[in-house]
Amino acid sequence: MNSDLERLIALQQIDSAADAARRRLAEGPDREKALDARLDGARQRVAAAKEQLTQNQHARRDLEKEVAVHQGRLSKFRDQLMAVKTNVEYQAMQKEMTFAQGEVKTIEDKVLERMLEADELTAIVKRAEAELAAEQKAVDADRRAMQAEQTELQATIDRITGERVAVVGALDKQVLATFEQVSRKRNGVAVAEARDGICTICHVRLRPQIFNTVMRNDAILQCDSCNRILYFVPKAGVQGSGTQNSELRT
Ligand SMILES: [Zn+2]
Repeated sequence: MNSDLERLIALQQIDSAADAARRRLAEGPDREKALDARLDGARQRVAAAKEQLTQNQHARRDLEKEVAVHQGRLSKFRDQLMAVKTNVEYQAMQKEMTFAQGEVKTIEDKVLERMLEADELTAIVKRAEAELAAEQKAVDADRRAMQAEQTELQATIDRITGERVAVVGALDKQVLATFEQVSRKRNGVAVAEARDGICTICHVRLRPQIFNTVMRNDAILQCDSCNRILYFVPKAGVQGSGTQNSELRT
């Protein structure tokens, strides 16, 4: 194979890998935000559950104050009952006391309901807290994995940037200029495999004369349609060392 063509294929692999790594790195802030959002969601569920429990406790305290008021009235009636002179007065006071006792009973039932509700709400708070703790663990693990991945990505970028310098240094200047020009115009992909007479990226059929020349891999030829530099991957065993670029067959 033409050695510049071989370098161009390597250069394209380097550029595509660097581009993918940079893209993935650039997703970092959004991925961080998604992790924060997961934690916020779990924290809000805990806060909401605690708020319900607090409201339940307030409601229960209010009811208990009401009970105390009615019981205060009852004990006052009991004192007054001793001093009552007439039967009518006595019966009227008995009626008041029966009413107050009824109120106490009704409110005490409500207090009991609140207490049962508090048990459920406490369980909900505990469950939400356990879920938050689990989510915190999972998010911490995801964050560590993400940071490790980003370190790895940056190392990859640094490594292939060095490799690129070496490849570019060995390339013919004119060939490099063509590559850079096509790369800029074609979204970073300046090299294309030609297969079965077709440019595999723009899918345009090549002139037979061009394709026959491309098959020899001994010249820098561009696709008439997309201008990408063409290469050919010989079928395994047919035209010598064709396997080394097989990963470019996509
Ligand atoms: Zn093309």
